[in-house]
Amino acid sequence: MVGSKEKLKEKRDKRLQEISLLRTIPYSDHQRWWTSETVAVVTGANRGIGFEMVRQLAGHGLTVILTSRDENVGVEAAKVLQEGGFNVDFHRLDILDSSSIQEFCKWIKEKYGFVDVLINNAGVNYNVGTNNSVEFSHMVISTNYYGTKNIIKAMIPLMRLASQGARIVNVTSRLGRLKGRHSKLENEAVRAKLIDVDSLTEETVDKTASEFLKQVEEGTWESGGWPHSFTDYSVSKMAVNAYTRVLAKELSERPEGEKINVNCFCPGWVKTAMTGYAGNISAEDGADTGVWLALLPDQAITGKFFAERREINF
Ligand code: NDP
Repeated sequence: MVGSKEKLKEKRDKRLQEISLLRTIPYSDHQRWWTSETVAVVTGANRGIGFEMVRQLAGHGLTVILTSRDENVGVEAAKVLQEGGFNVDFHRLDILDSSSIQEFCKWIKEKYGFVDVLINNAGVNYNVGTNNSVEFSHMVISTNYYGTKNIIKAMIPLMRLASQGARIVNVTSRLGRLKGRHSKLENEAVRAKLIDVDSLTEETVDKTASEFLKQVEEGTWESGGWPHSFTDYSVSKMAVNAYTRVLAKELSERPEGEKINVNCFCPGWVKTAMTGYAGNISAEDGADTGVWLALLPDQAITGKFFAERREINF
């Protein structure tokens, strides 16, 4: 008898095969809202999923800014793509450093004037395998949640207003889910607060992140009902998921022609440095849903969570 794990694996493998076929179908002229003047920015793109998203977006003909917190590594990564004929530019960007964010925005404004697509991919995780230390919780929450929020806030004024809407795509994780059989969150109060999008605010998300960090400092986090594996990372992605919804709500109140669509996605378990190359899919497959979301011809989709090109529950 085939077990449920095997069935799930079969289903996932089948979906991945479908997606790799979908990736080979070119976008039609009717679907292509972008041109070579369309500017996309990807954070943390010197390697892994970020690098792949740059490669794929540039392959679709956009101008892509590969950013990296390490100048030398980023320049080298961009060079690989430039030599392959891709329209890729580089600028340093550390999402934890407000002066780096400011400098980057100034450069974008002077060189390009605007951005059409922002992909928030930069992230950290310090746990591999069954190890679950919270030693680096501050760094994880600061980078994955506050860093992402800070770059988004700095970039929004630079996003080009257009009828198809500018796009923000946040790379998050199913580990941050609030409900369904994949949710690892046991804290009902936190779930209730984060799940109700109508009453959800940025302050609620901040307070949840602070509460977690306070419990880490006090040594009480283990009984806090937080996810039991990759705890700090899961909380950080839960926060980004929730912030995606808050922001989408806020941005959807803008007048027609000034909208910015914001969505998030889980790339799957990907063979990158972050997983110690232990994932089950390639960076190319992991990047797919992010690129698909960034290029979605349908402008009305915002505030949603995706995986393998399908909407999933938060
Ligand atoms: P990598 O570790 O290969 O890439 C992470 C990237 O983020 C690196 O380029 C890293 O730079 C960069 N980064 C870290 N901190 C900062 C910072 N302060 N400012 C700018 N860049 C920074 O991992 P992945 O490619 O796997 O991860 C990409 C995204 O996908 C992350 O958000 C991750 O959480 C998410 N994700 C990954 C999964 C997986 O299975 N791999 C699963 C679910 C989500 P540097 O090289 O200098 O360290």
